[in-house]
Amino acid sequence: MRILLIGPPGAGKGTQAVRIAAHLSIPHVSAGDLFREHIEQGTELGRNAHTHLQSGLLVPDEVTIGVVKERLARPDTARGFLLDGFPRSLAQAQALDGILADSGSRMDAVLELQIPEGQVVGRIAGRRLCRQDRDHIFHVDYNPPAAAGVCDLCGGELYQREDDREETVRQRLEVYRTKTASVVDHYQGQGLVTTISAHGHVQEVLHRALNAIGQGQADAAESR
Ligand code: AMP
Repeated sequence: MRILLIGPPGAGKGTQAVRIAAHLSIPHVSAGDLFREHIEQGTELGRNAHTHLQSGLLVPDEVTIGVVKERLARPDTARGFLLDGFPRSLAQAQALDGILADSGSRMDAVLELQIPEGQVVGRIAGRRLCRQDRDHIFHVDYNPPAAAGVCDLCGGELYQREDDREETVRQRLEVYRTKTASVVDHYQGQGLVTTISAHGHVQEVLHRALNAIGQGQADAAESR
């Protein structure tokens, strides 16, 4: 299955993407994670992308499309994938359609996570990530670790992303409104979009998400 998870910053895309992908045994492809890997490895692409990430702006389309295209060419995506945070502009959506069409496929479902704009800053301010595994995501209120600052899953140190500061979050929200909302319209035109509320506990939203893409039985899903 080829699924896209889309929604404003703070909707919990990463948190749900990890769980949905595990449930369906497909890779989780996050454009943001691909950029953060480049930044950590100190590549030239990473150095260029860093400025954009720090300011909450989109990395230019041609760079982003190249990075994701290379990732989707790896063999583990043959049975499907879950895209998180790509496409974020109409040009990226059109490029993705072209990449898939070249291999005779297309997206199967687009899941839109919705939260009231007023909740964005608060939700992001509480997010904590694990230094050892970027799939280990916590929230001080909605998904708190048992011991503050320590990952329940591997004991790694929890930290706050540098672009989770309030002014950067406001910029990312503006980018979502002006650039990314058109991606939802694009896939609505293809009849692929289902919208769910991202409000509530992690397992509750997962249940809603799996039902929305016709993959219910969330109880069997990983309960991290
Ligand atoms: P995320 O981890 O999805 O919140 O993305 C973090 C940052 O990575 C974004 O604020 C952008 O600077 C960059 N980024 C992620 N995905 C994309 C994309 N599809 N197009 C351009 N920039 C992106």
